Amino acid sequence: MKEIQVQHSEAFKPIFEFATTSIILVDENGLICLTNPHTDKLFGYAPGELIDQHVGILIPDDFKGKHGNLLKGYFDIPQRRSMGTGLELSARKKNGVIFPVEISLGYYNAVPKQMTIVFLSDITHRKGAEQALYEDEKRLRDIVQSISDAFMGFTNDWRYLYLNDKALSVLGKTREEVVGKTIWEVFPTSLGKVFEKEFKNRHQAEMTPFTIKTHNELTWWQVRVAKYSGGMAFLCSDITEARYTLEAKHRSEEQFSVIFNSSPAAICISELESCIVADINQSHALLFGFSKEELVGKTMVEAGIFKNYDTRNKVIDAVKKYGPVSNYEVTAYNKKGNPIQLLIAADIIRLAEKEYLLVASTDISVNKTSLEELQRSEERFAKAFRASPVALSISTMKEGKMIEVNNSFLELFGYRLEELIGRTAGELNMYPNAHERDKTIIQLHEQGSIRNKELVCNTKTNEKIHIIFSMEAIELHGEPCLITTALDITDKKEAERKLQLYTDLLEQKVTERTLELTQALEREKEVGDMKSRFVSIASHEFRTPLSTILSSTYLLEQTKVSSGEERSKHYNRIRSAVKNLTFILTEFLSLDKLEQRKVDIENELFDLESLASEIIDEVCIAYRLTFPVDYIHTGPRLLYQDKRIIKNLLLNLASNAAKYSPPEKIIKLRTSINNQQLIIHVIDQGIGIPPEDQKLIFTKFFRAHNASHVQGTGLGLNITKRYADLLGGTIDFKSKVGAGTEFEIILPIQENEIIEEKPI
Ligand code: ADP
Repeated sequence: MKEIQVQHSEAFKPIFEFATTSIILVDENGLICLTNPHTDKLFGYAPGELIDQHVGILIPDDFKGKHGNLLKGYFDIPQRRSMGTGLELSARKKNGVIFPVEISLGYYNAVPKQMTIVFLSDITHRKGAEQALYEDEKRLRDIVQSISDAFMGFTNDWRYLYLNDKALSVLGKTREEVVGKTIWEVFPTSLGKVFEKEFKNRHQAEMTPFTIKTHNELTWWQVRVAKYSGGMAFLCSDITEARYTLEAKHRSEEQFSVIFNSSPAAICISELESCIVADINQSHALLFGFSKEELVGKTMVEAGIFKNYDTRNKVIDAVKKYGPVSNYEVTAYNKKGNPIQLLIAADIIRLAEKEYLLVASTDISVNKTSLEELQRSEERFAKAFRASPVALSISTMKEGKMIEVNNSFLELFGYRLEELIGRTAGELNMYPNAHERDKTIIQLHEQGSIRNKELVCNTKTNEKIHIIFSMEAIELHGEPCLITTALDITDKKEAERKLQLYTDLLEQKVTERTLELTQALEREKEVGDMKSRFVSIASHEFRTPLSTILSSTYLLEQTKVSSGEERSKHYNRIRSAVKNLTFILTEFLSLDKLEQRKVDIENELFDLESLASEIIDEVCIAYRLTFPVDYIHTGPRLLYQDKRIIKNLLLNLASNAAKYSPPEKIIKLRTSINNQQLIIHVIDQGIGIPPEDQKLIFTKFFRAHNASHVQGTGLGLNITKRYADLLGGTIDFKSKVGAGTEFEIILPIQENEIIEEKPI
């Protein structure tokens, strides 16, 4: 190997000697032919020690095979090149230390051998620096990767250089799809423009945040931009949620402000530590009389609203322990120093990093008094309800179910409490009928209440009771109800009924008595009338017979009447005049008796036909009839009757027939007796009774206007009718002026009043 001479110029010798790179000449067999001093030093060999050593001595065992192949391959295509491209090459020092190297190979065509020049540099330091750089970069990438924000690195011409995973997930793309592309290719153009514009606008103020709003989805981003020599870095934070939270916060602040200002409760916000009032609302100002300006900056104790801080401390303790406090009753004082009863709610709130006590107060002074008043009134009501002697019930307005009744109600209707509660009056059949119930309900709905309605109700035992009831709407425990009062007026009604009965009876008695009195009065009047009539009749009717008597007695006294015949004529005239007077007086007497009801019926046995014949004779003589009366009797003749009355009837009718007929006209008398009746017919052919007078013919003192030329009192027919009535019979007539009159009397008779005539 020594014979191989290395041809080199002198100029290269210092380079070879002082080079800081290892230069090793290796022959085709891999034997080292030459090393420079740096190589020996680097590998830790003595100068020349490596000569003729196989190059493999410098190669770590792990690389030996590889080196061998590399060298072999190199000599096959000898050219200048780096060795082990893409491989991490290492060398081994004499002491076995392995260190990284960079090798390049040169070709040296020496005769007879081909030589390889190995240039070897120790890159331990560079590798270390590289490693450090790599690790730095990795750490940076890890940091960038681990941040929750999207990080995007751009070149100056807006091409993506680097994106962290978050940025890729936001874009929904892979790294390959994005890296190297421009921002406008990745984002929609418009959005890209926004980025560009915002960036340009804020170029001077680097890292100034700005927000962008994506189009397809409403998300908000805060983008920080940094410019560096090679491009730009974008750090995008998703602030959508934060933004919504902010908006919600704004909204809630607005709401709080509205509630605060419009709240009817008095609200005061004071600093938790210093107790200084920070704000009050309008209601607070109104309630306590302190304006906002007067109170803000002071404590409530300083303002005199509270006497000390005890209440406040207690409230704060409670809030801290149990959370928001409510319904806490305290006494405070208004500006005038008057106490106010408050119901407060309190909580600790945080505003601008400071804690405040928020207290909302409601004035319950009035409420409390009214509540107490209400309680008292309810107690009074309950007492009055229970103790009332009037039957009371409370029922629900909607269904009419009874929810409360007092003892009087139970007693009145005969129920036990448990039988009534929850039931309706309809269900219990308390109403007299369904119609009455419906009517009551309709009236109640139409008028809202019922006052003093009378009703006959059924008790439990179905007894009818007369009540007077009222219904009124009331509210009980918030539910609309009806209070019913019922007063038993059954006894009153009975008393009323009796009273009515007595009144009716009394009225009847009064009527009867009045009638009696009226009748008595009438009678008295009649008597008065009669007296005056009597006087006028007497003066008229008595005058003729009396003057006859006077003249006849005078003549008889005078001796002028000497013959017996003459004398007898005068005596007869006197007798007739007296008879006439007697007849008139008898009539008056009869009438008086009849009117005084002093006529008693006195029956006796008599012969009707004989009685009639006697009367006919009497009439014929008295009225000097030319022809005898045409008399026919039919049926039995004997009667057991009041003869006096029958005689009066016959005489009155026959006398009238004679009186009101010319003497030559025949008068007919018919009497008949059958099983049940006595019938009398008196028929004349006289002047008749004018039709207009016929209805008054039986009236006392009435005389037809065509009878004035005939003597009479107007009493005969009246007496005849009264007698016929007394005997239970009837009197009737038919008459025609100028043709005559027919009177008919029908008297009822009993069978035993007819006596059959026994043959002699
Ligand atoms: P008096 O005959 O005394 O007037 P009466 O009571 O007997 O009273 O009769 C009442 C009146 O009835 C008479 O005044 C007369 O006008 C009329 N009257 C009664 N009977 C007859 C009769 N038969 N024919 C015509 N008129 C008669």
